[in-house]
Amino acid sequence: MTTLSKKVRVRFAPSPTGYLHVGGARTAYFNYLYAKSLGGDFVLRVEDTDEQRSQEAHLKMQIEDLLWLHLNWDEGPHPTTLADQGPLGPYRQSQRKTIYKKWADQLLQNGKAYYCFMTDAEIEAQRQALQKRKLPPHVDSPYQDWPLEKSLEKISAGDRAVVRFRTKGLKKDYRLPDLVRGDVTFPSDMVGDFVLLRSGGMPVYNFCCVVDDHMMEITHVLRAEEHLSNTLRQMMIYEALGWQLPQFGHLSLILDEEKKKLSKRKGATSCHEFMLEGYLPEALKNFITLLGWSHPEGKEIFSEGEAISKFALDRINAAPAVFDGVKLKWMNAQYLRAMDETQLWLQIEPFLKRENLDFSEYSKDWKIKSLGAFKSSMETLADSVPLYHLLSDKAFFVDKAESAEVLGWEPTRRVITAWLEELKNHKGEFLSEAEFLQIQDAVKNKTEAKGKNLFMPVRVAIIGKPHGTELKILVPLMHLKSLINRASQALAEVGSGV
Ligand code: GLU
Repeated sequence: MTTLSKKVRVRFAPSPTGYLHVGGARTAYFNYLYAKSLGGDFVLRVEDTDEQRSQEAHLKMQIEDLLWLHLNWDEGPHPTTLADQGPLGPYRQSQRKTIYKKWADQLLQNGKAYYCFMTDAEIEAQRQALQKRKLPPHVDSPYQDWPLEKSLEKISAGDRAVVRFRTKGLKKDYRLPDLVRGDVTFPSDMVGDFVLLRSGGMPVYNFCCVVDDHMMEITHVLRAEEHLSNTLRQMMIYEALGWQLPQFGHLSLILDEEKKKLSKRKGATSCHEFMLEGYLPEALKNFITLLGWSHPEGKEIFSEGEAISKFALDRINAAPAVFDGVKLKWMNAQYLRAMDETQLWLQIEPFLKRENLDFSEYSKDWKIKSLGAFKSSMETLADSVPLYHLLSDKAFFVDKAESAEVLGWEPTRRVITAWLEELKNHKGEFLSEAEFLQIQDAVKNKTEAKGKNLFMPVRVAIIGKPHGTELKILVPLMHLKSLINRASQALAEVGSGV
């Protein structure tokens, strides 16, 4: 038996086939929290042996998402160059083929594995025959007892063979003390002789996973429940190689509100999408921490530091976790509103720029003031877009369709004219909220318009339509010049086409 290093070492082992799914992010984060809570190492290992699906571009997408979440790894590919960082690399399975070959050779030498020359058609015919007889569809290879030399000769002659793990003789139950699910028992006859290396020499997941976890000195494997059934094969390989098992913990499924598998059709499922929708990484991390784990004091909102200090495996719940999008939005709003305005401006700026809303000429004070006014109406960063749209002069226009009725009312011309006069008489660059209310009163007195006959024309003169955010919030954020321009444009539309 080989002894494992004492230091806790965990890994996140994505197969890079696209953006990081929230389920993957949860696995990564639980491993990260566990490592950090015990001063351990967090390793990023890339399971890219499926050459067709695993492209470097996909790996970069996953890395981008991990970096966005600030989940920095202690060992693994460098975030930009992808060069190995750490003493136990390579960290990409596609670069470890000679290592897998070496261990497969050892299993072949000591008879724990054998070369199998069966074709796919032969395997399928055998499977169907076994099924007819109501027997488990396990491969029963005619090559299992061939001496190794004989198989090697056949291979030298140009024949292709897979390396199959021998399960015959392992007639017992395998007991896994799972850190999340408690004892799980697998009868060994659940699996037949399974492939370790494909005929081209490409290793399969279960084999690579064992070799890598052992060689990278991984002490704890926290991963998705869907891998539980793989664990039997992995336990058999550990046993055959005489290696000590790491401790396994299989994390529950993540379901949507209807208790179905999270699906793209019902909304965002990848971290990238959440980023584009304006979620903050800290909020998303806080949210995923609670997908199957609970804070000992029942807290919902807590910092990463607190999560690290309180994280313990015994609070991981084996029952499926429900992904509640409304809760995520609420949590995001809490984080966003707690953020200092200068920081928040930096976060919303890319969202505004993407929509051609440019406020680079505005002062820092204005930016802070506007966010102070808008923050409480925002749940995501993207919510800033419609709000700042109202303040952008370039985006302003009188929406004739929406405003047609108001523009046709009898007092509208008087109201907008009076509003414009009051603005022109005002000194200063901006109106305060109080000044705006005073002016509105002056317009009321001058025109004798009341209720919607007063408010709606003023609204059209300010935002170009009769409905929207409260004016007393918006007006103090608009330059007087801009208010004058807008009112003039609205006045020009009064009576037109109605
Ligand atoms: N590569 C596997 C996946 O992306 C992870 C396997 C494991 O953690 O053992 O699901």
